[in-house]
Amino acid sequence: MPKATFYANQAATIIKNLEKRNMEGYYCPDAASAVEKALSMMPEQSVISWGGSMTLTEIGLMEQIKKQNYVVIDRMLANTPEERQKVYGQTVLADYFLMSTNAITLDGQLVNIDGAGNRVACLIHGPKNVLILAGMNKVCPDLESAFKRVKNCATPPNTVRLNCKTPCAVTGVCGDCLTPETICCQEVITRYSRIKGRIKVILIGEEYGY
Ligand code: SF4
Repeated sequence: MPKATFYANQAATIIKNLEKRNMEGYYCPDAASAVEKALSMMPEQSVISWGGSMTLTEIGLMEQIKKQNYVVIDRMLANTPEERQKVYGQTVLADYFLMSTNAITLDGQLVNIDGAGNRVACLIHGPKNVLILAGMNKVCPDLESAFKRVKNCATPPNTVRLNCKTPCAVTGVCGDCLTPETICCQEVITRYSRIKGRIKVILIGEEYGY
């Protein structure tokens, strides 16, 4: 299949470029093999947490994580601001932090935009390992197109999902808003990992998330 070969070729290019940036890259052709790969990378009893991601749920990884012999830190179980703060403290100390990425460039840079910022904070520093799972729909040629993708393809459906009062939730187009409910508070480019191999990216030869 031409598309499968194209995805594999494109992923091989990105993986080489991730290596130059001290990050590890892997390619799995489908969700099942990506879940198997992710589980094989995390030893039993690892402390695992995650940031908000449609991809992790869609590929079935979250379901598997909860069935395996892991110590799971789930911020959704926190009911009060105090509990959320405590869970965030535990998340920062996790062995593995799971997330997707809003975009990844062909030269291996990650682009992520956050509201609260807990997800990008853990990407930048804290958890021992960050494991990123991303469908090939997240691939963009360069940083400019990556930001366009995030603002016009990824964020508008998220604001609809989260019922945010933002221009993009109504028009489907980024209005570069400065409203209290914007989910574009932090814009982070990850161009290099100070700790070699801390950030691991599994590219999946299918389309997942926004
Ligand atoms: S800046 Fe505002 S309008 Fe633009 S994508 Fe973000 S939340 Fe939507």
